[in-house]
Amino acid sequence: MEKVLSRYIYWFESSTNKYLVYNSRYNSLYEVSGNVFKELNKLKNDINYIDYISVDIMEILNRNNIFVSENEDDDFVLELQYRTERAAFSKSKLGLILVPSLGCNFSCRYCFEEHKRDKVMDDKTIDSIILFIKNNKEAKELELVWYGGEPLMAFSAIKKILFRIKNEVNIPIIKHNIITNGYYFNNDVIDYFKNNHLDVIQITLDGERERHNNIRKIKETNEHTYDKIIDNIDNILNSLPNTSVHVRVNIEKSNINDYYEAVEVLGKKWSGKNVIIYPGMLRIENETNMKLSCNCLQKKEISEFMFDINKRGILKQDIYPHSIFCKTCSATRINSFIIGPYGEIYKCWNDVSDNNKVIANVNDGKIINKSLYYRYLIGSKWYNNVSCRKCFFLPICNGSCAWYSLKNKYQNGKFSLCDCMQKYPGMLNKCLEYVYEVNKL
Ligand code: SF4
Ligand code: SF4
Repeated sequence: MEKVLSRYIYWFESSTNKYLVYNSRYNSLYEVSGNVFKELNKLKNDINYIDYISVDIMEILNRNNIFVSENEDDDFVLELQYRTERAAFSKSKLGLILVPSLGCNFSCRYCFEEHKRDKVMDDKTIDSIILFIKNNKEAKELELVWYGGEPLMAFSAIKKILFRIKNEVNIPIIKHNIITNGYYFNNDVIDYFKNNHLDVIQITLDGERERHNNIRKIKETNEHTYDKIIDNIDNILNSLPNTSVHVRVNIEKSNINDYYEAVEVLGKKWSGKNVIIYPGMLRIENETNMKLSCNCLQKKEISEFMFDINKRGILKQDIYPHSIFCKTCSATRINSFIIGPYGEIYKCWNDVSDNNKVIANVNDGKIINKSLYYRYLIGSKWYNNVSCRKCFFLPICNGSCAWYSLKNKYQNGKFSLCDCMQKYPGMLNKCLEYVYEVNKL
């Protein structure tokens, strides 16, 4: 059978003159001799050179899956497609992101709040949500996230829903998170969540104190909010030690240093506590809504920034790539829903409060926007994109964000879709070399 060079092989000479070979399909990295490296370079220029390779070197190339049979890489793509679809269409887990209110106590300048209404989820909608969960017969596990607006503006609705889920529904909650601005996370809320464990509380700071206070003001009074949020996080960390607090520090080009400052100041303050301080890349669109504004960090800059903070040990994520076999998100999974205060159902977080993006209502469950529903479930998937199917990075990439893919496809968007950190020029070498040198693989 004819053998070909696998599309998942990459080799390079490191800055310390090592000959490294990386296989993205197997996520393996190893050093080879100068001889093997030379032969690989010759093969790259002319695959017919295969006939002149010595038996010893051929054995090394075969052993490391550098050569594969003619259709093997394409078959592997089919396997990834199958695994993505199996996960996307599994109903064993029900994912609910509940938006008990679209209202918010802040008036952040980049929030499109004209669409946001203060309506709090009423009892009729809560009844429908409980029925919706009960009718989801195949679900064995429930993942629950509170989102807004500011979800704590509807704390009473949160309590009602949780009480009813725990008492009326026979599915265990395996993940329970809240995304909040932190302002209302007072002692009453903390006491409540002592008995209703949260896995993660995500709270956003808009940079350092002054910038945050300029952007995140109380709506009616323009009051500053930074100090109160920091005090609340202090209380949470002391009172809910088993809940992980994720402090997201928003950054764009002009305030990258705010992240370093937050890590320096808050990292020291909360040393040893259950907290992660991570950068949130602001994604504000330009005036045409077709691209990110030039103030935002672009993908290459984000890659370099993430590399830097990981290398410096500021954030403890892996620089080494991860194999990602199922490439899904709430928009592309059949059993994930975002439910707003009117019972309206969305597929993507970015769609919340946009009436044109409502795909159904929890009161009757009927799909009312079939086009959008199928675009998310099928049309946005990586396997429809020839570039992804042929891409060296596919095994270590999560595919592109469905929301941006649809925006490019149907609304003339020009967004850069590849989120794989190693994809950007020079990054793969940097990441692999760093890991090889540090871990002495
Ligand atoms: S999203 Fe980009 S990096 Fe990822 S597989 Fe597709 S083309 Fe490759
Ligand atoms: S489509 Fe994009 S923004 Fe929406 S849930 Fe999926 S990954 Fe997130």
